[in-house]
Amino acid sequence: MATQKLLLLPGDGIGPEVMTEVQKLISWMNKTGMGSFETESDLVGGSAYDAHKVAITDAAMKLAHESDAVVFGAVGGPKWDKVPYEARPEAGLLRLRKELELFANLRPAICYPALADASSLKRDLVEGLDIVIVRELTGGVYFGEPKEIVTLENGEKRAVDTQVYTTHEIERIGRVAFEMARKRKNKVTSSEKRNVMRSGVLWNEVITALHKREYPDVMLEHQLADALGMQLVRWPKQFDVIVTDNLFGDMLSDVAAMLTGSLGMLPSAALGATNEKTGKRKAMYEPVHGSAPDIAGKGLANPIAMFGSFAMTLRYSFGMTNEADMLERAISDVLDQGLRTKDIASPGQNAVSTTEMGEAVLKQLQKIAG
Ligand code: NAD
Repeated sequence: MATQKLLLLPGDGIGPEVMTEVQKLISWMNKTGMGSFETESDLVGGSAYDAHKVAITDAAMKLAHESDAVVFGAVGGPKWDKVPYEARPEAGLLRLRKELELFANLRPAICYPALADASSLKRDLVEGLDIVIVRELTGGVYFGEPKEIVTLENGEKRAVDTQVYTTHEIERIGRVAFEMARKRKNKVTSSEKRNVMRSGVLWNEVITALHKREYPDVMLEHQLADALGMQLVRWPKQFDVIVTDNLFGDMLSDVAAMLTGSLGMLPSAALGATNEKTGKRKAMYEPVHGSAPDIAGKGLANPIAMFGSFAMTLRYSFGMTNEADMLERAISDVLDQGLRTKDIASPGQNAVSTTEMGEAVLKQLQKIAG
């Protein structure tokens, strides 16, 4: 088994607390031979600022470039509210995304049966839900030029944002979605607004052609973004992989996330292009939640989003589908057994600590792995 190089960036607040649980998991996998990982750790965010006056050092960036995957905790907190803008904790995250060219944001929405009642939708609509939104992250209307507010001759102001996509940008995000679908239920739903936007027409044409040329074995459907928003809350289980642009993806992934309940449960990934020589791709995995300063240091953080992010690392960076499935099953089993951290406990229900939840998931994984 090839040894995989992981860079662990725990960050601030609850970041290090939830990362500790993943580190125990990595050690166990190395010990049993279930995996072979070489890990390095470094500072990012406020903790990097405290030590080096920057949100991430060049040395840490070098490690990120050299690693097979970056596993990221969370950054930020009130302590760093007044640091210079370019050194604010989030600048570390943005530098990683930019320099590793992570153009594909993956946000799974998984609803564990034991937590189905925590969703704002009815249990039968969300129980067992397992979908992924693939959002284009580095193009579209958030970056297109011109992007300006100008004052007109009559004194009125006019604001412009530009939605712009090229064939290449659409193809590369499309490939991520089709490849992902092949490892899942083999279905892609592509979403745009071709009825009113030229970029939507091109998006639709490029995805259709890519499908025909390279992925005819995957089921493809197209849905207008507004209709898809409606379908997501009407019948979310009809989807497997949804691929869409930066703006629609931003909104639709938040809708999908909330189908599943707590922030402490949601993993994510950001992927770059595959290197043609090595076949490897840059990737960073992180929980959706932030550094939760309100609960940091109290042992209350839910480590499940962090575990879920590591399951994505196994699945999407290393093709370790079985191991990822087992880890996700361990999480699901532990929830079935009734274990809850405070954020997912019902009123009056006993809550366990970060460490207790982490150890329970690891113990269950050991049991599943036999
Ligand atoms: P947050 O996600 O940190 O917290 C929101 C709420 O959810 C809090 O009540 C928190 O206690 C709870 N929560 C979050 N994760 C949890 C977990 N794993 N277990 C239990 N409860 C959890 O968002 P916020 O409070 O808006 O931001 C706090 C800081 O985090 C800010 O500095 C913000 O800029 C930063 N932030 C960082 C990231 C990131 O690193 N990717 C993302 C979002 C926010």
